[in-house]
Amino acid sequence: MSAMVQSGSDNGPVAGKRQVLASLLCRTRLIAGLSMLRSMLKRDLRILAYHRVLSIAEPDAFAFDLELISASEARFRKQMTLLRERYNPIRFGDVIRALESGTALPPRPVIVTFDDGYDDNYRVAFPILRELGVPATFFVSTGHVQSGLPYAYDWFVHVICRSAPGQLRIAALGVDCALPATIAQRRELAMDLLDRLKSLDAQAQQAVIATLEQEADLPRTRGHADCKPMNWDQLREMQAAGMEIGSHGVWHRMLAKLPPSEMHQEVHQSKQMLDGELALPVTTISYPVGGLDAYNEAVIESAKAAGYTLGCSYICGTNSLPFSAAFQLRRLPVERHMDEAWFEAMLALPEAFTYPSRHRAD
Ligand SMILES: [Zn+2]
Repeated sequence: MSAMVQSGSDNGPVAGKRQVLASLLCRTRLIAGLSMLRSMLKRDLRILAYHRVLSIAEPDAFAFDLELISASEARFRKQMTLLRERYNPIRFGDVIRALESGTALPPRPVIVTFDDGYDDNYRVAFPILRELGVPATFFVSTGHVQSGLPYAYDWFVHVICRSAPGQLRIAALGVDCALPATIAQRRELAMDLLDRLKSLDAQAQQAVIATLEQEADLPRTRGHADCKPMNWDQLREMQAAGMEIGSHGVWHRMLAKLPPSEMHQEVHQSKQMLDGELALPVTTISYPVGGLDAYNEAVIESAKAAGYTLGCSYICGTNSLPFSAAFQLRRLPVERHMDEAWFEAMLALPEAFTYPSRHRAD
């Protein structure tokens, strides 16, 4: 779940202008020249960040976090085709080998990543990646892989979408309001509350979600087909086909908001579990939520001690080569509102076309 997603469906005026400009640059083929100029001036690694790849027939009726859907199946195929044609898709393993041997990465390197581990990654994205020969890294939360339980933030959205009509009271967030009538309105309210929820410490977040589930009689243990994590067999199959698996903690908790002992547990146990279940040792962690309030120096030190080599944030940007911050790698989020031109322009000129975000560090 991301720190960068925008709530609601409105792109806003800034995004609107970027989309128009992206479309103009692509139509006139100016983008190719600008991109070549940039690659002469700057050598960097682009890391794309996806969550879910899914085609939804009726978005308004979808009772989960719609903003986690990064692309439809058709759009994802086009995006991966563009990567294959214009860039060099690589793995974190290639980066680590290059770092260790002092060799250079191929020109225009890109890494495709997925956070959380939703089962559409296996069902929808993986067949396309395999067919097109694009490797990707899937950051999974091991507690969810093991238990099959839905993700807490997404369940929070679901409970607000599906509660019986009436008053919504969440004392810790200062909420006491009537629940809106439609799922779309409720989801919008939930997205706003989710931002506020993420400002609490991790235990308080957990308590709010647990109370809400109980009051609505919608326990997470009930599960839901639209909010399912991948399982170990699926991860093994993807790894055997050349995909990489990384850690996204055990229970997708904001690591910097946990007491130190629980933070260490999330970082270390997830690696131990992945190393035990998969054929290759896990090298890379993606900090859940990933914004500036989700990881800190203590989290980075814990990741180094656990044996990770690289760490991904969810802060927008590319990574200059050679790396100065191997445990604070920046990514380029792919969002469902991005059309083809915008995606192409974002890859070519990331500084100008990254998705507008409340959590941009620059
Ligand atoms: Zn996440």
